[in-house]
Amino acid sequence: MRRYTLTTFGCQMNVYDSGRLEGLLAERGWVKAQKADEADFIFFNACSIREKAAQRVISRLKEFKSLKKARPNLIVGVGGCLAEQEGANFLKKVPFLSLVAGPRRLTEIPALLDRLDPKGPAIILAGDGAEPRPPAAPASQAAPLSSFVTVMEGCDNFCAYCVVPYLRGREKSREPGEILAEVEGLLARGCREIVLLGQNVNSYAPKGSPAAGKASPFVDLLKRLAAYPELWRLRFTTSHPKDFPPELIELFGSLKTLAPSLHLPLQSGSDSVLKAMGRRYDRAQYLGLVKKLKKAAPLLALSTDVIVGFPGETEEDLADTLSALAEARFDSIYSFKYSDRPQTRALGLPNKIPEPEKARRLDLVQDLQRKITLEINQALVGQELEVLVTGPGRNLGQMSGRSGTNKIVNFIGPSSLYGQLARATIVEAYAASLLGRLATPAGELWAAAGDAAGARS
Ligand code: SF4
Repeated sequence: MRRYTLTTFGCQMNVYDSGRLEGLLAERGWVKAQKADEADFIFFNACSIREKAAQRVISRLKEFKSLKKARPNLIVGVGGCLAEQEGANFLKKVPFLSLVAGPRRLTEIPALLDRLDPKGPAIILAGDGAEPRPPAAPASQAAPLSSFVTVMEGCDNFCAYCVVPYLRGREKSREPGEILAEVEGLLARGCREIVLLGQNVNSYAPKGSPAAGKASPFVDLLKRLAAYPELWRLRFTTSHPKDFPPELIELFGSLKTLAPSLHLPLQSGSDSVLKAMGRRYDRAQYLGLVKKLKKAAPLLALSTDVIVGFPGETEEDLADTLSALAEARFDSIYSFKYSDRPQTRALGLPNKIPEPEKARRLDLVQDLQRKITLEINQALVGQELEVLVTGPGRNLGQMSGRSGTNKIVNFIGPSSLYGQLARATIVEAYAASLLGRLATPAGELWAAAGDAAGARS
């Protein structure tokens, strides 16, 4: 029996790709090892979006040097955007690697492992392969309750700080029929929540899409998916603010299956920084979009990304970001210090901000957001939320799940609630989670779940 370990870094796209790879490895008889020294194949699916994360992956890979020396037949490989970026150069940093595979080549790995010589030269896979799309997940496996489905890959936007267009290539959308077939397969195997994935999911444009100005193919896709009665919740990420036609905004108010949560990257609240980043919207347009979305769906929970310390960012620019956070009142944010990445336009920009200053700015952003998040969560105390129960909670006797607004809710309840829609009254609120009390008697939950599914059909 061949054993592997797979460690994933970075975004949901990598999580999705790793899930695909695991499915394909299982089809060829590979099983997961409990720890690295029991494995025949050690693989890191790595991210290149930030310098610090990339360095961490390289130093963790180096830790396998003695294991590889003791067991020369061990295959150590690295994949994802970092592998695409480094290519053969990776071997200068980690010479004992047998495999370096970019994100568009991961599905070739399981077949490759059958013929790869661990003592021979490393194999480098980059760019588009013969089969850029991963095949459907193996039908034999139970699907996760909440599953990712990629609808498009790559990016055409070339934001000044971002390596994605260079590493994942230009935008390519999957055909709707292929997506629907994958979703049907997942629903048949027990999945109840689908998260559509793409670097710019709302610029989804499969071949033969209507010309600009006509009905949005992404809106059409969401409507078709929402028609499956077994699908309880539908989400998508990541969306670009420039690709939000009125009919997409309107769906948040009209399509019950579309969960009331949206990740909408802001990056900066300053017009001059947004322009330098090449984001193709300004502060007023972004905040106007937030207003329209909240009008269409008043309960909508928004999350965002913020970068501080972009080259040339002034105190005034930072103040604009802080005031945008205060105005938009996001439920949560992912905030980062700007970091130079190879190939990007921002790499050559002057007026780089020193690290300690970037750290100070990040603290200001995070302090403000912690306050806003806590206020929003505390306002939920006393309210009853529908929770998709995904597993045990952190404390004994607790179960845990996600509200439609994508908040973690823990509550005391039986493990039989796994996979059900429960209702919980919120009794305590923290910045990262909510504590609830089960509102529906456990015996009625099966019926409740059935009703909820029926209401969505
Ligand atoms: S939209 Fe900008 S930040 Fe997002 S993946 Fe494309 S280039 Fe990167």
